[in-house]
Amino acid sequence: MSRPSRPTHRDPVARRPLVALLAALLAAGAVAGTLPSSAPSSAGAPHRDPSGSGAPTGRVAEPGKRLLAAVHRGRPAEAAIRWRRSRALGRPDQGRLVGGVQLPAEGTHFVTVDPVGRASPSPGWRRWGTNRLVRVVLAVAREHAAAHPGAPRLVVGDLSRPKGGRFGPEFGGDGHRSHQNGLDVDVYYPRRDGKEKVPGTVAQVDRWLAQELVDRFVRAGAEYVFVGPKTRLRGPAKVVMVLGNHDDHLHVRLHPATRGRR
Ligand SMILES: [Zn+2]
Repeated sequence: MSRPSRPTHRDPVARRPLVALLAALLAAGAVAGTLPSSAPSSAGAPHRDPSGSGAPTGRVAEPGKRLLAAVHRGRPAEAAIRWRRSRALGRPDQGRLVGGVQLPAEGTHFVTVDPVGRASPSPGWRRWGTNRLVRVVLAVAREHAAAHPGAPRLVVGDLSRPKGGRFGPEFGGDGHRSHQNGLDVDVYYPRRDGKEKVPGTVAQVDRWLAQELVDRFVRAGAEYVFVGPKTRLRGPAKVVMVLGNHDDHLHVRLHPATRGRR
């Protein structure tokens, strides 16, 4: 319950920083050369302090890094995803990924965490999947946020490497036997304290939210959802399976024929 709800990409509020940048560029003469600072922007946006104070700034000397950072924050990372048709070749434990899509470091409804060292975000090379897998992650994260506005964002771990293939311990930590062809993703269970971090013990897991997540991934077309023996999470017997080493995260595997929902 600690996080305020965030604007979604459909929310016009999310576009305001971009308008502010255009206005600032105009005011700084960067676009039109000698426009007076009082010139109304062509977008008709009020001159607002991008820091969010709401105070009219009157004049903006230069857009600056702070403003650009605000623009970056206001633009959903999901909008920058380079979508393409992907192919999952071979098997999850012996395969590769062609035409993979990279999940951003974080987005409106998710963050990524490196399972090795637990830093956030995780390195870019650990975040590649088929286009369907990335769409499913985004859709589940979005629906989860809509259903539970105060809940922490989804904490996403490893997908596959950029071209798939082995993802064993030589890549840090325990490594994975699967995660080789862009169909697997690890998602950490939501924590009861709302922190967007890996749960340290199963007692820290918000079991109700975790069950909701399992259910959503099942509905989204998971072939398997692996959950830990201590979690007491459940679902359809042939889909939700108990597996050791999954007491802090669930592991979703899409069926090769699963379609994303948008
Ligand atoms: Zn996994």
